[in-house]
Amino acid sequence: MALLERTETLTPIREKIEAGERLDFEDGVALMESDDILALGELADLARRARGGDDRVYFVQNLYLNQTNVCRVKCKFCAFAVTRKQEDAYTYTPDELVEDAVRQHQLTGFTEIHMVGGESPHVDFDYYVGIVRSLHEALPDVHLKLFTASEIHHMTTLSGLTHEEVLRELRDAGLGSLPGGGAEVFADRVRRLVAPGKEHPDYWFHVHRTAHGLGIPTHCTMLYGHVETYAERVDHLLRLRDQQDETGGFLAFIPLAFHPENTVFEKRGWKHTPGSDDLKLIAVSRLLLDNVPNVKAYWIMMGLPLTQIALHFGANDVQGTVVREEIFHAAGANTETEQKIDELVRVIQEAGRIPVQRDTLYNELRRW
Ligand code: SF4
Repeated sequence: MALLERTETLTPIREKIEAGERLDFEDGVALMESDDILALGELADLARRARGGDDRVYFVQNLYLNQTNVCRVKCKFCAFAVTRKQEDAYTYTPDELVEDAVRQHQLTGFTEIHMVGGESPHVDFDYYVGIVRSLHEALPDVHLKLFTASEIHHMTTLSGLTHEEVLRELRDAGLGSLPGGGAEVFADRVRRLVAPGKEHPDYWFHVHRTAHGLGIPTHCTMLYGHVETYAERVDHLLRLRDQQDETGGFLAFIPLAFHPENTVFEKRGWKHTPGSDDLKLIAVSRLLLDNVPNVKAYWIMMGLPLTQIALHFGANDVQGTVVREEIFHAAGANTETEQKIDELVRVIQEAGRIPVQRDTLYNELRRW
């Protein structure tokens, strides 16, 4: 596309942003189709600042746990799930999780536990309640960000309870918020191809809407870079925006790049998303999601150098120190699993931004 043509495509979008107007579906597709990456980054940064963003970049000190890798769903993009009979299958008891978490907490003083896992048919709802209660009793000051919407839905099938009853019970046991996983790409066509065993995306929205109604904040994601089209990406983002208009309970959006290693897609020769696509996703997310306050550049998936650039493409959060991370490393993410605070601070400062350690709810704990 010639320079003049590129400029003309983005000019009306720039005018809308400068006027504080909302972008629509066609704008989103035009942005996705643009190969003028630098212009996208500049527009996204403009939008972020126009909506009140400043130079602060957030991170949280957190511990990653996975309660089980046994899963009945068999998503095609997943390199993490196993059956109970496989040698490397595990399902930790609440006591084992507490022991691990308390030990890690003594070492690092994390403020958040992020835990997701497989949908094991071999546990019951009491197992999940027991995990939440035990962790909350052992570490009452630590925020528990646990279980994807798919896992919450799985708990309703295990228990016969409604989504609201499940969430209420977990909240009363100490659950603080939900992570955003399980969203993948909402379009039916994509779900049939990559996650045919997963419940309909309407349940993802139902769980998050219900959680927001109970005062449980949540996060939202998109797993991109597989079979989805640009239009399906935009549709996904706009559905999230509609939900946020309705309930306002999303704390942050996290784009998750698909890693093909150890999945059926590796045999088909699929590669990682190019860095330019990762940056485009960050920028377009920021531009379309005008009502979600935070966009994360998840350094464990992007790597630190690209994360630094993403901070100029609309991202204002690099996620966490991540004491442990298993799902994406099973699928080939090769960044270090342990990052010291010092390193994240350095990375943010080198990008010309102000590092701020936050808690899960974006309260500022420390600023450099
Ligand atoms: S992505 Fe989640 S639900 Fe799908 S197979 Fe893997 S663990 Fe199971």
